[in-house]
Amino acid sequence: MDAPAERPPERWDVLVVGAGPAGSTAAYRLAQRGHSVLVVEEHGKVGQPVQCAGLVSRRVLDLAGSESMVRATVRGASVFGPGLGSVSFHAPEPRAFVIDRAGLDVYLADRAARAGAEYRTSTRFDRLLPGPVDGVRVRLLDGEDAPFEVTARLVIGADGVASAVARAFRLRRPVEILPAFEAEFPASPGDPDAVEVYLGRRFAPGLFGWWIPDGAGGARVGVAADADGTSARAYYLRLLEHLGKRFGRPLGSATAYLVSGIPIGTLPKTHGERVLLVGDAAAQVKPLSGGGIFTGMTCAEIAATVADEALRADDLSAGALAEYDRRWSAALGEEFRRALYLRRVFTRLSDADLDALVHALGSTGSPATIVAFGDIDFPTHVVRELLRTSPSLVRLLPKALGAWVSSGAYRAPDVEPGPLRK
Ligand SMILES: Cc1cc2nc3c(=O)[nH]c(=O)nc-3n(C[C@H](O)[C@H](O)[C@H](O)COP(=O)(O)OP(=O)(O)OC[C@H]3O[C@@H](n4cnc5c(N)ncnc54)[C@H](O)[C@@H]3O)c2cc1C
Repeated sequence: MDAPAERPPERWDVLVVGAGPAGSTAAYRLAQRGHSVLVVEEHGKVGQPVQCAGLVSRRVLDLAGSESMVRATVRGASVFGPGLGSVSFHAPEPRAFVIDRAGLDVYLADRAARAGAEYRTSTRFDRLLPGPVDGVRVRLLDGEDAPFEVTARLVIGADGVASAVARAFRLRRPVEILPAFEAEFPASPGDPDAVEVYLGRRFAPGLFGWWIPDGAGGARVGVAADADGTSARAYYLRLLEHLGKRFGRPLGSATAYLVSGIPIGTLPKTHGERVLLVGDAAAQVKPLSGGGIFTGMTCAEIAATVADEALRADDLSAGALAEYDRRWSAALGEEFRRALYLRRVFTRLSDADLDALVHALGSTGSPATIVAFGDIDFPTHVVRELLRTSPSLVRLLPKALGAWVSSGAYRAPDVEPGPLRK
C-alpha cells in the first residue's frame, strides 16, 4: 500500500490557538479586516467542556453583540463571612447575567467563521518548528494525533491558563494559578435573582465560593481556593454541605463537574516576535473575582487592532507588537494593579477579620454604596468608595490600605507580581 501523502504546509496570515471567547473575538476582528485566519481548537466541539460559572456583565453581551446566550439576570448578592454573618444588597435593575457559557463560545465562533475565519476542532498546537524569517512554522496534531504543518505570519495564543503557545515562545507565566472546582445542579432552592458568595479560610482561602442560579431552577456551585494542601474539591464539598443545611435539604445530584485553574497576576510581557497572548493565556483575569471573559474579550479586541496594523505594515517584530501591551495596560492595567493590591491585603485577613468586615458592611450604609457603585468588571471602584465613605471599615483593615485610600492617590501601591513560571 502507498504511504499516505504528506500534507503540503499551509500558509495563513494568523493562526489563533484556542476557540474560547478571547480566541474567537480576535479571529472575528482579523477575518473581518480581510486577513486569512485559522483557528485551531484541541477539543472536538467548541465550548465543550464548559469550564466557567458564566456570570458576566452587560459589557460582555455588548462585545458579543448578542443576548441570545443569557439564561438569567442577577439583581443582587449575599456575601457570607466564614462565621456565616451576611450582608445582602439588591439593585432595581439587572447587574449581571448568567449565560450559557458553551452557547457564548459557539456564538462567537460562528460569528468569526461567518466573517471568514476557518475553524478546525480536534486540532492541537504541538510546537514550533525551525522556521522561515517571514513567518512562524507550527506543528499541529489532528484528531488522530497525526502531525501537520502550517506557517503563519502571526500566532495568537488564546489557549487558556496552561498556554502551550506561551511556553513555546518562552513568555513567562504567573505562578499563582488558583485551583477551581464547580458542579451544576439541575434543581436547587435559593433566590433565582441573586448570587451567593462565601468568604474565608473555612470555605475558600484565597478567593471565594459561589452559588449562582442558572435561570432554569438549578444552580452552579463552586469554589476557587489557594492550593494549601487541601483540594478545591474538598472546599467545594464543605460548601455543598453547608448549602444543604442552609436550604433545609441537599441539592440533589450534579449533572456536570468542572476542574480548572484561574491565573492570577500580571505577566511582564504578553507579546513577542510574531506572537500575542490573549485572555487566560495572558493572565488577563480580574484578580478579585477570577472572572476573565470581559477582560479577555476586551484585550482580544485590542490584540486584533494591533495585529491588523502590524500585518498591514508587515512589521511583526516584538517592538511593533509591544503596542499591544501598552494599549491593553492603558485600558485595564490600573484596575488590575489596584485589584492585586487589594487581593494581597484581603488574603491576609483572618476569618475573624472577614467576619468583622461583613458585619461592618451590613451595619453601615454600605449596601446602598454597593448598589450605587458596584460593577463586577471594575470591583476596585466600589471597594474604594466603601472605604472612603465608611471609616469603620478602614479601621478594620491594615494601616497601609487606609493610607492609600485617604491619600486620594489614583495609582495603587506597587505589588510584586510574584514569581513567574518559565
Ligand atoms: C470554575 C471557574 C468559573 C469561572 N467563572 C467565571 C465567570 O463566572 N465569569 C467570568 O467572566 N469568568 C469566569 N471564569 C474565567 C473564564 O472561564 C476564563 O477567564 C475564560 O474562559 C478565558 O477565556 P479564554 O478564551 O482566554 O480561554 P479559554 O476559555 O480557556 O479557551 C481556551 C481554549 O484553548 C483550547 N486549547 C488549549 N490548549 C490548546 C492547544 N494546545 N491547542 C489547541 N487548543 C487549545 C482549550 O480547549 C480552550 O477551548 C471562571 C473560571 C473557572 C475555572
